[in-house]
Amino acid sequence: MKVFSYQKAASPAEAAAAALRTPGARFIAGGTNLLDLMKLEIETPAHLIDVNGLALDQVEATKDGGLRIGALVRNTALAAHATVRRDYGVLSRALLAGASAQLRNKATTAGNLLQRTRCPYFYDTNQACNKRVPGSGCSAIAGFSRPLAILGGSDTCIATHPSDMAVALRVLDAGIDTVRADGAVRTIPIADFYCLPGNTPQRETVLQPGELITSVTLPPPVGGTHVYRKVRDRASYAFALVSVAAIILPDGTGRLALGGVAPQPWRVAGAEQALPAGTAAVNERLLAGAKPTADNAYKVILAQRTVASVLRQTPAMKG
Ligand SMILES: Cc1cc2nc3c(=O)[nH]c(=O)nc-3n(C[C@H](O)[C@H](O)[C@H](O)COP(=O)(O)OP(=O)(O)OC[C@H]3O[C@@H](n4cnc5c(N)ncnc54)[C@H](O)[C@@H]3O)c2cc1C
Ligand code: SF4
Repeated sequence: MKVFSYQKAASPAEAAAAALRTPGARFIAGGTNLLDLMKLEIETPAHLIDVNGLALDQVEATKDGGLRIGALVRNTALAAHATVRRDYGVLSRALLAGASAQLRNKATTAGNLLQRTRCPYFYDTNQACNKRVPGSGCSAIAGFSRPLAILGGSDTCIATHPSDMAVALRVLDAGIDTVRADGAVRTIPIADFYCLPGNTPQRETVLQPGELITSVTLPPPVGGTHVYRKVRDRASYAFALVSVAAIILPDGTGRLALGGVAPQPWRVAGAEQALPAGTAAVNERLLAGAKPTADNAYKVILAQRTVASVLRQTPAMKG
């Protein structure tokens, strides 16, 4: 591991200012992703800003009936929170489908959103990877691409985003609250938060240098049946090959997003409008434009079948 300096953040605004002014600075929260990447020298921050002491670890009701989740709320605490379990079940289920109990005890809301891809070539510093070393090439496209993206990729990168939590937040229309180095705050809709790779796969979100996530805000609950179905190689402790987050309302309308298939949670408005027309119409629109490789063509069929299975499970769609 490379040598780095370390500081504890005193306030969110001060942390953001320090991150912008210090070359090579990174925030550290639970450390469950960043420290692994540092040990492999995939990430080599010169300075760590430890945000764990900040007062960002509460879940609280918002004035409009929604929920504000502090950036430092641990995945275990969020999944177990009574309001989340009652009103945002898809989020609780997605969190419990991720990682292991020990990891969830450390992992934070912000860190989970910003975890890096699990593309095997990203983790192998002997291999070309445009995301790790811009312009070096992509070993995955003509290599082993079984776990990688079928949607939203580009000629430079076909990595998937690995977070389960983010897929649930996408159907919940979450907002990502931040503070920037100049003290300005903003809320980024999760629909706009993740970048597609295009020609710059190293740029994964719209966050600006130094920008700190302070919380995630959920709108008031919408009701309905909440499902998170994750298909993976092992029953636990494995990333999604395909996942489906769904909220289906009693009248048969609803929301759907896929995980494990794209560089961002994959939600298509037209697919949701097709819910009353049935599963085939939903799948056709949700997977329109899919560009699988020979290795991961199975994901198209797996996604179709997982969506079908989820919709069969929801009372409004059974008939
Ligand atoms: C073996 C293993 C299996 C896993 N399986 C799954 C799985 O199945 N599903 C799943 O979803 N996840 C899985 N994970 C990933 C796990 O969920 C993430 O490692 C965790 O959520 C990251 O949170 P953290 O707080 O530890 O982040 P850290 O490692 O501390 O940070 C991650 C990134 O976020 C940045 N960051 C942290 N806080 C902030 C902030 N407030 N503002 C701005 N930037 C910030 C850091 O600079 C860093 O770039 C697995 C991890 C491991 C090691
Ligand atoms: S798919 Fe993306 S992360 Fe994987 S090797 Fe190619 S550029 Fe790197």
